[in-house]
Parts: sequence; C-alpha cells; structure tokens
Amino acid sequence: MPRCQYILSDEKTAGRAIEGALDEMERMDRIMSNYKNDSELSKVNKKAAKSPVPCNTELLDVIEQSQYYSELSGGAFDITVSPIVALWGFFREKGHVPPDKEIEKLLPAVSYKNIVVKKNAETKKSGTVFFKDIKTQIDLGAIGKGYAVDKALEIIKKCGIDNGCINLGGNIYVLGTPPGKNAWKIGVQHPRNSGEILGYLELKNEATATSGDYERFFEFNGKRYSHIINPQTGRPVSGTLATTIVAPTGTEVDALSTIVFVLGREKGLELIKKIPNADAMIAYEEKDGKIAMDMTQGFKDKFKKTNE
Ligand code: ADP
Ligand code: MG
Repeated sequence: MPRCQYILSDEKTAGRAIEGALDEMERMDRIMSNYKNDSELSKVNKKAAKSPVPCNTELLDVIEQSQYYSELSGGAFDITVSPIVALWGFFREKGHVPPDKEIEKLLPAVSYKNIVVKKNAETKKSGTVFFKDIKTQIDLGAIGKGYAVDKALEIIKKCGIDNGCINLGGNIYVLGTPPGKNAWKIGVQHPRNSGEILGYLELKNEATATSGDYERFFEFNGKRYSHIINPQTGRPVSGTLATTIVAPTGTEVDALSTIVFVLGREKGLELIKKIPNADAMIAYEEKDGKIAMDMTQGFKDKFKKTNE
C-alpha cells in the first residue's frame, strides 16, 4: 500500500492532498499494471504487435522516458525484458531456470528499439504504440512506481503542501523537512539481514529508491537468481546485492537504481557521476562474505552508516 505523510496545521488541506495523491497513484496503476488484465498497458501488450494501438494517457510518456533510459544506459535498462522476466517465472510465486534455448528464442523480441511511439504533433499527449516484433511485451516494473511518485507529488504541491513524504513500495520522495528537523531520515535496508539497515540517508526535496536482489528471487543449486535481468543475455544479474539512488525525481531514481544494478560497480558509478544531481551506492559481498559499499561523494555526504 502506498503511504503518504504530511505535516500540516491545516487538516482539511492535508486530507485533500493525501486523497488526491492516493487517487493519482491508483490511476497510474490502472494504466501501467501488467497484473491487471484491463490496464492500458495490458491492452497495448495484447494488440501492439498487430497494429498501432491508440493511447492518450501517461503510458506514452513513460514509454518514451524508458527509451531515453535505455539509450543512456547502453541497453542495460529495457522495458521489453518482460517475456524474459516471465520465462524465468518472476511474475509467478516461484521462479525456475529455463532452458538456454528458450532464452535465445526470446532475445530478438527484447529491445527498446522494437517499440515505436508516435505522438500527435500538436497535443504531444495522444498517439500510438506499435511493436515491431510479434513477441515484444512491455513491463514497467523498473520505472512505473517512480513515475507514479512524481505524479502524486504534483498533486500534493498543487494542494499547497510544503513538507511531506511519499513512499510507494520503497520509491520515496521527501518534500521539505519534518517539523523541527533539518532533513528526512530514510533507512537503507541491509540486503541480507531483513529488519536491519546499512545506514540512513538525510534528504530534503529529493527522491530515493533501492533495487535489490533480496525481495524477488529464487535459489537453485545454491545460486541466487534475482528479478533484475541483463537484457543482453536474458539472464538475472549477479554480483550486485543492492543499489540505492538519490536524485531529483522519482522516475529518475527508479530507472537509475535498476540501471546501476545491471551495470555493476565500475560502470554503474561511472555513469552516475556524469548525471547532474544524481548519487548512488552499490552494496556487494566481499570474498569473506562481508557486505561492502561503494558510493559517490554526494551519497557519502548524505549517508550515515549504522556502525559509525
Ligand atoms: P523493484 O521492483 O524491486 O523496485 P526495480 O525497480 O529494479 O525493482 O525493478 C525490477 C523490475 O523491473 C523487475 O521485476 C522486472 O519486472 C523489470 N526488469 C528487470 N530487469 C530489467 C531491466 N534490465 N530493465 C528494465 N526493467 C527490468
Ligand atoms: Mg527501478
């Protein structure tokens, strides 16, 4: 369940803002969910390989932003990994290792370049979505929640709220500060010991999100397979335990957390250093089993380790 907190003297305004924000997040879910059969995304997934599907909602915008992040990451981020995510069973309760052949068969369908978005030149809002490959499918699991946080933020700002926190499944935006404090304290979960944190971030007017290998995964023959897929190989990414991003918008932190997870320590942090106002932390396991963290300077400045 999404949560919103507001600090306000005016309860009526707070109530209106909370209701508006929750409604907006539900509206986004009705558009982007691929668990709901009648969502706009499900309609697109069913029909877009046959002919361009008309669409006049935020879906077009999210798809275009996803394509931007695919370009930015050299293909590490790709919303068309959907058929591969399904093949590994990550949409179901328990996953399984599929035969190599099955993966190879699906790989040609996996490319953001298979999605053609055409927008109405005047309104820039309505348009169509078309898939070039018959097996192409979209999954917005890596960006949709962050996008919904940004939409909810627009609503609460319009209501005149200056201080508050939106949390949609770990995709967080903090507005202003809590009463009498300089910043919001946001815990960063320990990737192996649930209930423990690695430390906490002190944030204001910015977003944060974490991608980890500890929430959706399965183990087979002693190996852990997580739900974040390398779109080039069609296989779950290993080596990274968790990535946390801090940046100005929910969409950005959601997409970048997945990207850094896929790219890994060196390439991931290299990319983040080039993006203005974005910071990152990567948690990984050292040879002796200890959890270590690499982070950008900006992240270091905002982060307090629990054991310090
Ligand atoms: P979470 O859903 O735990 O917040 P992420 O934001 O990293 O984590 O999103 C992971 C989800 O995104 C996966 O469950 C899957 O549906 C989808 N996905 C997996 N790999 C990729 C990828 N390389 N690019 C885009 N989406 C991905
Ligand atoms: Mg993400």
